[in-house]
Amino acid sequence: MSDELSVPIKGVLNKLSIKDLDIKGKRLFIRVDFNVPLDENHNITDDRRIRSALATINYAIDEGAKVILASHVGRPKGKPDHRFSLSSVARRLQRLIKKDVTFLPECTGPNTESAVSRMSDGDIVLLENLRFNIEEERNDEQFSRALAGLADYYINDAFGAAHRNHASVVGITKFLPSAAGFLLQKEIEYLQGVINHPVRPFVAILGGAKVSGKIDVIRNLEDKVDKVIVGGGMAYTFLKAMGFNVGDSLVEQNMLEFANDIRKGVIAKGIKFYLPVDCVIAQSIEAGAETKLVTSQEIPNGWKAVDIGPASVKLFSEALESAKTILWNGPMGVFEVDAFSRGTFSVAHSVADAYALTIVGGGDTDLAVSRAGVSESISFISTGGGAALELLEGKDLPGLVALTDK
Ligand code: AMP
Repeated sequence: MSDELSVPIKGVLNKLSIKDLDIKGKRLFIRVDFNVPLDENHNITDDRRIRSALATINYAIDEGAKVILASHVGRPKGKPDHRFSLSSVARRLQRLIKKDVTFLPECTGPNTESAVSRMSDGDIVLLENLRFNIEEERNDEQFSRALAGLADYYINDAFGAAHRNHASVVGITKFLPSAAGFLLQKEIEYLQGVINHPVRPFVAILGGAKVSGKIDVIRNLEDKVDKVIVGGGMAYTFLKAMGFNVGDSLVEQNMLEFANDIRKGVIAKGIKFYLPVDCVIAQSIEAGAETKLVTSQEIPNGWKAVDIGPASVKLFSEALESAKTILWNGPMGVFEVDAFSRGTFSVAHSVADAYALTIVGGGDTDLAVSRAGVSESISFISTGGGAALELLEGKDLPGLVALTDK
């Protein structure tokens, strides 16, 4: 990718940034997204989300602020549950940032207040999982006020939670001057930039399970893209709607008519629309299941498409060759099973090799590029699944709207 293309496209963030605040000696409540995957022994299996927040945390420390970090992890249902404790995140953060991180077992209350009042400039504390409090997801005013009471300023650096109307994302902003951290800004700049001012030709690759999950993305991009490539489970609703037999492949019956309308509408606008021409089929989605390679028009009953085939990979890769901007959301097949991952990984390599600004956002696509070993060659990988999807659908993110205007 050329340097010229790697420059982030300027977004339209008209909100306060952490850089606009004089934070020396101030207490900053930084909402981060440390919602990392944990295995059964409570080990962090991927710490990318922690590493993505380091720029903001390091800046705050270097400027002499007192840093209070807060996040959720998992879905603990509003009460303490040690399986979702952030204690191991505190240890990992400490190792990554090479500074002491004090873990506080409660988000609010006298013990937390007293620990925060004893902080010196440059100190870091991490609060326990926000979602151990039922009030967090209810956007409770009292709880928001109590969180705000810990700090002088609020910083949102949790792009992955910015689509949530929760106390630590929205409620708290009523009580404190509120600004965006660097990760949030970068996410918005890239994703909004690609939607509003893509360098063309602009190609969108959409995959994943269902058409219904991506409809609004297609609609929102309709007037900006030059090519749309559809793979993954959602492709078979389109193919069935065109009259092909797709066997037992994933099909959303109630979307058939809609899929045809979308395809025809997109083509009528002069946009090229690509579907898989061949696919790998299996009788069950299990490792070790027998597979066959067939054309997309010939999927027998009793078999389902689980991956795109080599002719589709070639077709899609050729379609990417002239692209200057590529947005990819959703895998091409059931890539979690090794035998069905080849199509997704091949497309990941084609995206990575493209001479284009490449953006991977939403769903499991970040995991797919990481497993394909090409993360380093992608211009930008969004940290927010649901939030990225909502932004690509053209929706406002409550966590962003709530920040203080410039
Ligand atoms: P999404 O969250 O909508 O991006 O969907 C991601 C999921 O789609 C992954 O877990 C894939 O296993 C699944 N997926 C991709 N292709 C297929 C397919 N052909 N049939 C069923 N599921 C699929």
